[in-house]
Amino acid sequence: MVAEAATAARPKLVVGNWKMNGSVAANAALLDALKAAPLGGVEVSVCPPAPYLRDVATHLEGCAIAWGGQDCSSHEAGAFTGEVSAAMLAELGCRHVIVGHSERRALHGEGDRLVAEKAQAALAHGLMPIVCVGETLAEREAGTTEIVVARQLRAVTDLLGARTGGIVLAYEPVWAIGTGKTASPGQAQAVHAFLRRLLADAGAANRAVRILYGGSVKPDNAAELFAQADIDGGLIGGASLKAADFIAICRAAG
Ligand code: PEP
Repeated sequence: MVAEAATAARPKLVVGNWKMNGSVAANAALLDALKAAPLGGVEVSVCPPAPYLRDVATHLEGCAIAWGGQDCSSHEAGAFTGEVSAAMLAELGCRHVIVGHSERRALHGEGDRLVAEKAQAALAHGLMPIVCVGETLAEREAGTTEIVVARQLRAVTDLLGARTGGIVLAYEPVWAIGTGKTASPGQAQAVHAFLRRLLADAGAANRAVRILYGGSVKPDNAAELFAQADIDGGLIGGASLKAADFIAICRAAG
């Protein structure tokens, strides 16, 4: 009964991270396919590159699929060439924004404090930040997975305090992103359970925070991952660009 209540408070969420892929025509074809398919009653969101957001919003108007940004600035506005603000994403109807993706941490030098500030900016504009945490292969092999993800999450809980309840957390082991290597359901569940305990320790309101798994989720491994007690859905990269795969993954969460 208690477990059921906890799950009901954390409806499954599947988010497609298109990364720097797509075109006007390809996006339209992908969205048409998603709109035509039953997605299993789960919450679904797609995160296209920023230039396509307005088009995607028009395409998805009135349908249950939400859309979001792949990143946002920690700043409100001003001389930050190339950046996209949380206010802009909110104006385009985004529900979510990914922050702290490992590609931004690794390729753009984003640190834990900046990621937390981006989450703070998103919340200030009514967006749900999807905060990514995860260890590299070297960190896993050194036995420091928990130390790394705890440090990454602590930066967020320290800055957000009681507002942490408004985030979605995504556990994405860096070694599993785009590599075809998936954490086993047991490996993923262990880290999710650890993160769940940290969230609860940081505040009772955080019990409803959803923790997504990301890293080479495919139609053939999604159901087993989503069946784990503390996995509340997925952040999907490569497979979110293939309509049939993304539909199958959404249904596996339903
Ligand atoms: C991601 O980019 O967040 C991701 C999980 O990618 P992939 O599914 O391709 O591993």
